[in-house]
Amino acid sequence: MRRHDPSFFARRRWDLILIASLLALALLVGVLWLCLTARGGTVRVTVDGALVGSYPLECDRTERVEIPGGGYNVVTIEGGSVRVSDADCPGHDCMRQGRVSRAGRSIICLPHRLLVTVERGRPEVDIPVALRPSGREGEDAS
Ligand SMILES: [Zn+2]
Repeated sequence: MRRHDPSFFARRRWDLILIASLLALALLVGVLWLCLTARGGTVRVTVDGALVGSYPLECDRTERVEIPGGGYNVVTIEGGSVRVSDADCPGHDCMRQGRVSRAGRSIICLPHRLLVTVERGRPEVDIPVALRPSGREGEDAS
């Protein structure tokens, strides 16, 4: 006489739950990846080589960057592109450079040594720690 093995079905159920949760996780990571890479990336703002800000390109915002030693630049992220909307540098070359949205492009303000760069990929903020590719932390301290 052949008996039903209940543990067989129990195992299958756990397999299904595991597969379903893996699929859900893959979907979540995929959506996150698409949002952060395909639609733009990260705006990095540096002054004299030092990072002063890192913002997702798809989130509209305006940041006033105070330049050590005097002066300011206003960096505006709007509709998936970034520009210097205001500055008190002589010449206003940075403001004339217009909007930048592609990875690898940048806006430079020479008098203020300000560099606004668009980078492909994830910003250092706004991503849950659990979803980061590597579990290493400590780079946000600076
Ligand atoms: Zn400038």
